[in-house]
Amino acid sequence: MQSDKRVEPISLVDELRKVKEKEYVDEGDDVTIRCSACDMPLVQLVVTRSHVDVSQKIVAECCHCGDKSFVETINGMFALGACEGSSISTMDIIDQDTRDGIIFMDVLIKTKK
Ligand SMILES: [Zn+2]
Repeated sequence: MQSDKRVEPISLVDELRKVKEKEYVDEGDDVTIRCSACDMPLVQLVVTRSHVDVSQKIVAECCHCGDKSFVETINGMFALGACEGSSISTMDIIDQDTRDGIIFMDVLIKTKK
């Protein structure tokens, strides 16, 4: 028998204490993710397909002070761009789940100078 008790994986959202969830963004919107501590621009996102059933929570790690950005929620797919002083080092999906046909992903982007 399977137990009904579900063990939730430790998500990025839980890990971060200073999470501030923002609004979902629409197709064509571009978002600059900034460090929550030093406010440096880290990553630029442009939403390319908002109708895709994917919801992504994105956090960027700061290459300047080592802190992280707030969580940005993107509905759909997006393109990534570098910001002045910060470029993208790696992008990892650290958690993934499917509920009601929608794929939920926690994405961690590491930046470098
Ligand atoms: Zn920083």
